[in-house]
Formats: sequence, C-alpha cells, structure tokens
Amino acid sequence: MPRDPRYDILFEPVPIGPVTAKNRFFQVPHCNGMGMSFPNAMIAMRRMKAEGGWAVICTEETDIHPSGDLSPLVEGRLWDDRDIPIFARMNEAVHDHGALAGIELVHTGHRDGCLYSREVPIAVGHVPVSTGYPVQARAMDRADIRNYRRWHRDAALRARRAGFDLIYLYSHAGSSLLGDFLSRKRNRRSDEYGGSLENRMRLLREVLEDTHEAVGDTCAVALRYVVDEGLSEDGAANMDESRAVIEALAEVPDLWDVNIREWRRDSMPSRFGPEGSQEEFIGFVKRLTTKPVVGVGRFTSPDTMVSQIRRGILDFIGAARPSIADPFLPKKIEEGRSDDIRECIGCNMCVTSDFTMVPMRCTQNPTIGEEWRKDWHPEIIPAKASDDRVLIVGAGPAGLECARSLGNRGYAVTLAEAREVLGGRVHDESRLAGLATWGRVRDYRVQQIQRMPNVETYLGSRLSAADILDYGFPRVVLATGASWRRDGIGRFHATAIPGLADIAVFTPEDIFAGAKIAGPVVVYDDDHYYMGGVLAEQLRLQGAEVTLVTPASDVSSWTAMTLEQTWIEERLYQLGVTVKEKHGLSAAGKGEVRIAHTGSGREQTLPCSSLVLVTMRLPNDALFHALEQALLADAGIMSLTRIGDCLAPSTIAAAVYSGHRFAREMDAPPRNDEVPFKRELITLE
Ligand code: ADP
Ligand code: SF4
Repeated sequence: MPRDPRYDILFEPVPIGPVTAKNRFFQVPHCNGMGMSFPNAMIAMRRMKAEGGWAVICTEETDIHPSGDLSPLVEGRLWDDRDIPIFARMNEAVHDHGALAGIELVHTGHRDGCLYSREVPIAVGHVPVSTGYPVQARAMDRADIRNYRRWHRDAALRARRAGFDLIYLYSHAGSSLLGDFLSRKRNRRSDEYGGSLENRMRLLREVLEDTHEAVGDTCAVALRYVVDEGLSEDGAANMDESRAVIEALAEVPDLWDVNIREWRRDSMPSRFGPEGSQEEFIGFVKRLTTKPVVGVGRFTSPDTMVSQIRRGILDFIGAARPSIADPFLPKKIEEGRSDDIRECIGCNMCVTSDFTMVPMRCTQNPTIGEEWRKDWHPEIIPAKASDDRVLIVGAGPAGLECARSLGNRGYAVTLAEAREVLGGRVHDESRLAGLATWGRVRDYRVQQIQRMPNVETYLGSRLSAADILDYGFPRVVLATGASWRRDGIGRFHATAIPGLADIAVFTPEDIFAGAKIAGPVVVYDDDHYYMGGVLAEQLRLQGAEVTLVTPASDVSSWTAMTLEQTWIEERLYQLGVTVKEKHGLSAAGKGEVRIAHTGSGREQTLPCSSLVLVTMRLPNDALFHALEQALLADAGIMSLTRIGDCLAPSTIAAAVYSGHRFAREMDAPPRNDEVPFKRELITLE
C-alpha cells in the first residue's frame, strides 16, 4: 500500500550539522543489557532497527575512561582503540541500511563507583558514589579537568574512526560529569568552573568546542540535555536556568536531544503517563534554537508524531521503547501499514535488563535480543515445514502469539478459548486501574490473526481431554494459563496460612470476576510485582479501607526494575492505603488477620473482612495431565506441548516469548542437551 500522504512529513530528510538523516525517525540512546558484554547481540539488535527504517541509530551510554567505569552495568565502552571493532561492526550494519550511527559518550562521575577498574572515581566535588557502594569520588582539580577534556576528545576521535556519524555529549546531573558541573545543587566549586551559571556551563561549552574541533567537520555533535535538571535548589528557578543554558548554547550543538529528569519520568510507565507526556517540559526548546530537536514520548501513533512536527515541538521523533517493541515501525508507516505496528505498552520490561544485566526482553516483541543468538527476525519467520494442523487451547498472550506466529508460517491453526473474550490474563489485567494500554498485547495479535484465513478462532469453547482426543489434531498446544493460590503459600510462607476457613478469601481472579469485596480489606502481597499494588489501588478507588501487607521492604518491590515502584508507592499513599512492609501473614480469623514483622517477629492484629491473597500461581495443567494418560498416537496426536503460564507461571513477556518460541521450533529437530542459542564466548589471550 502507498503511504498515507498525511505522513509524508515524517519521511523528509533532515540535516544534522554535516550529515543528513533520511527521515525523522530517531532511535535515541538506550540501554539493552547487551552492550560490551554481548556485542554480537547488540550489533544485530541495532542492525534490525536500521533495517526497520530508523534514520538514526544510537548506542547506549558509552563510558570513555576507567575513572568513569560504569560497571557492573552492561553498556558501551570506548576506553582505547581495542574497543573500536565492536562499534565499527555495528556501524557497518547500520550504514548498510542507509541509517546514521550515533554514540553517546559519557563519564558518569560519581554515579557508578569504578567497580571493575578500581580507579578512584572523579567528580565535581568530594561526594559519595550514588549507587550506595561505600566509596567516595574525589573532587576534580584543574589537571583532572584537562585530562577529562582530552579523554572526551580522544573518545570522539575514536568514535569517528569507528564510523559514527553523530557524537553525543551527555549532560544529566547525577549521571554525568557535564550535568554535575552544570548543577548549582551539585557544583559547589569556587574556581572558574563553579559559582555563576557561566562558570558552571564552562566545562560543557569547552567539551562541545573540543568535539566540534576534533570531529565536527564530518560528524554531527549532539547534546543530550535534561531540561528540568534541578540546576538550582528551588523548583521555580530550575526551568529558568535550564532555559538559560539552552539560550546560551543554542547554536553550539548540531542537535538538541532533550529529555527530563529521573529515569522513571523519562521512561514513563503507561500506568502513570500517556504518550507524549514530556511535551509540557520540552515544548519550549525549539523556540530557542534553529538546530534540530529530538525528544521522546513513547510515540507509536503516526498522527501524534505528525502533530509533534507540525506544531513545532520536535524535528525528530525520538524513540527507545517504541523501537524495541517494533523495530519496523518506520517501515510500516512508510508502506501504509500503520495498523501492523506492534505498539509499545509502556510496561518497562525492557528497562529491567539494565538492572539485571542480561540481553533485553520486551513484552510485545519476543525477538528482541534474540536477533543474533537465535537468528530471530521480528518480521520474518520461516514458512511451515509440514501440513500438520495445530490446535491451540487457550487465547491468553501465549496462545495468541503462538497462533499469530504459526499462522504467519502458513500452518492451519485452530485456536479454542473457553471464555467469550480473547486475551486471557491480559483481558483481565488491562481493566485494572491504569493498565488499559497493556491490552495492546491482545489487540495487536487479535487484529493480526483475524486477517489470516488459515487461523480459526473459537470463543466459548472450553475443551476437555475427550474433545481434544476426538478432534485428533496432529499438534496440540496447551496455553491454558494459571490460577492464583488461595492458601497464602508463596515466597514467604511454605505452608498454608492457618484460619483461612474463617474469613472471606479472594484471589485476583475473584476480583476480575467481579466478586463483591467488603472492607476493611487486607491485600497480602508476596508476589512483589504489580498485582498486589494495583489491586490495593483498585479496591481503594472503589471505596474500601485497604491495608497492603507485604514481607518485602517496599510495596510492589520488584517494580523498582520497571521504574514503577515509587509511582505505585506515591499513589497508594495519596489514596490512603495503609502499607505494612516487612510483615508476613501469621494467621487469619473471624474479622481479623494477624501479621508479624519479618525481623522482630512482633505480631499485630488488623481488622479484616476480606483477605486478598496475591502470592503465587499454579499452572492450569489438569488438561495436560489427563491427556498425558491417554493414547495420543491412537488419536493421531503427534505432539502435546504446554506453553506460557500453563507450563510455569511467569510474566506476560515470558508467555509471549513462550508462544513465539514454540511456533518457531515446533518442527525443528529436538536439541535436548544442546544450549538452545549461540553464545558470546570470550577469546583467551
Ligand atoms: P498465558 O499467560 O500463558 O497466555 P492466560 O491465563 O493469560 O495464560 O490465558 C489462558 C487462557 O486459556 C484463558 O483465556 C483461559 O480461559 C483459557 N483456557 C483455560 N482452559 C481452557 C480449556 N480447557 N479450553 C479452552 N480454553 C481454556
Ligand atoms: Fe514497550 Fe514494554 Fe516492550 Fe519496553 S518491554 S518496549 S515498555 S512493550
């Protein structure tokens, strides 16, 4: 299909200093858990985005010197010439598809602590390392500043030799020396680099000039700048100073990449902010400079993108998450296939890989991080290897993704769902407070399979083992999901909570099914991801008195990984939910529960009419066990496989991955004892 002319503006070339981007789609720097540790994977992931039509592809943060070693985080590294080949390989791949390659150079100052290099971290002043290690950074003297400028310049020259077209400087107080020097709060120096704004800006200006002078004839010099940095102590003055910096340096960088303070706001989870939520902060920047401006906002709608350009907010549509969820987003718009965009749901599962330091995963895109090690392409899947008909039982995220991918391969697929709705847990969970966007996991897949004549979907079809044997599909896939326990067993309690028979007990599924919950309510959360917190929020919004009890030291503690934890905590406090952290549930009784502090064992009693248990789930695998007993071959069944939560309950991302994996591997020869992917092995000297 030809592209919609309304979107032509997105495909205009835009000059950036001495180089030109072929369109306005700009993959801004983002971490990915691969970087220097899994370079083949990182290269293949970036290459895929170039193939998908992004005009600019940037690296993640790349540290430039051992005194700014950001280990143990897995990011980019450019300490000396031996680091060039990884980037040269990435850039060849990016250039092959006509895209520009950018590198984000950074010295993180006192942020990370030099855990690998064991150098003494250097910083704007004497200051403890932010990550909490019992280490301090030392204040930089003039010689250190001269050295730092030289390292940055050398890194820029190396980056050019590696083939980069854009060289980034990174200014973010708390995450980079340049930002720390700018910050009135952090910069307490009394020399020419501290005090007045002009002095605090000196280092940034110098490094910008150094970079221009070193590589600016052939490379664009980009500045990533946090517009509400907290440059000064009182909120009102923050933006004034930020604006003053942009005014003073307006024409110095070739590109302004602007974003906002705190990662949790910059990568705003969809539960707490909509698409385009940065506009109110960054909207003024373009009025102060003639240089192109890029910004992010979890943009997935081409109409919103066009509006950003037409209204003069941005020149480039910046994206990290939308480019992860759909590396082919630009191509799809270009080819008039916007409906095929696999929209990011804003769950931030991708972000977790930065903390866990393993290759990135994404709820919507099961192939991300697998491009090299499994040779998975997000848009291409091998054609079917047989005419086997496949029955998939259950249309949650695992069943839907399995049907979509097998359907793409050309298999004849029958998808049977017990309920009258598709989506399984995603259908239920996306109706909870703030989680509507998560429904995209279902919507994308349903929309795709509806167009496939070879995929038939049956609602209201709860299948029994007898049904399945009777149908005799050669391939049977069980994606029947999982159910929450109602006995309190989980991470903290290995045996059932005594007294549950005396109180009204509910699981999340009961609440999804519309159970009437009388207050006071106790939500006991031993799951630690979002479910306990979001149910407490939901029940409180419905008017109940709610206490959330958890053995963890924070509410929804694992959501720190998805940048949601502090938002959740704030919301629960605002709503008046009482929170009891570090408490287990010792017993339940009529109208009350007893809880005990995990450290001291001290007990207290809480009034409770309804107890909601969010601890762990058990697979719905009765069907599997019934079929296991049957003579499958006699029924013509060649394979019976469990996928998703039916095999082992996990995240929605894991269910999607499981469905996708089965679809790819169904007809592959079994590789029982082999490592199921290519590994990145270190070569010994
Ligand atoms: P997953 O996350 O693994 O995809 P879900 O729990 O989201 O799992 O989805 C499982 C789906 O399977 C639910 O929609 C459920 O209604 C459906 N289901 C469970 N048992 C059967 C069955 N016997 N026949 C048809 N559908 C079933
Ligand atoms: Fe978007 Fe979630 Fe995928 Fe990240 S993991 S790109 S937030 S869908």
